Amino acid sequence: MKVLYPGSFDPLTFGHLDLINRASQLFGDVIIAILENPNKSSTFTPNRRIEQITEATKHIKNIDIITYEGLTIDCAIKYNAKLILRGLRAMSDFEYELQIAHTNRTLDKSIETIFLATETFHSFLSSSVVKEVAMFGGEIKHMVPEIIATDLNNLYKQ
Ligand code: ADP
Repeated sequence: MKVLYPGSFDPLTFGHLDLINRASQLFGDVIIAILENPNKSSTFTPNRRIEQITEATKHIKNIDIITYEGLTIDCAIKYNAKLILRGLRAMSDFEYELQIAHTNRTLDKSIETIFLATETFHSFLSSSVVKEVAMFGGEIKHMVPEIIATDLNNLYKQ
């Protein structure tokens, strides 16, 4: 069964990667769908995010990496994915994620949203936290794959 894992991934962290690893063992195919949001400025271009994720997931089989604009549900329909995967780190994620899952169900009842709880060790991680640490010259190699740590360090180096 195909599962769509949508997100900004700006950039991908070890928290995202953990979910991708686990989803690839649970489901046949994982489509990593990078949202191109014209209303939100991003740190990395969609193309660079594809390159970063391709490198970081090269050890995992059955992965596709795509970009999309617009509704996630339309992306799931387009790629024939019956499942949308989202990650939960804390209660604060839950409220927002539940609202989105309910909304998506009103748009297409044949597509289910499923949730995986983060690995405890990664529960503090978010793309914005990593960027903040990198911006102030902190250590980020335990937070993101090497290619992304290099990109961030180059981006924020004085
Ligand atoms: P979005 O802007 O759609 O929330 P993100 O790239 O921030 O995009 O997150 C994509 C998905 O990955 C979300 O479901 C989010 O909850 C999940 N996620 C983010 N960080 C982690 C983490 N450290 N552990 C598990 N899941 C995570």
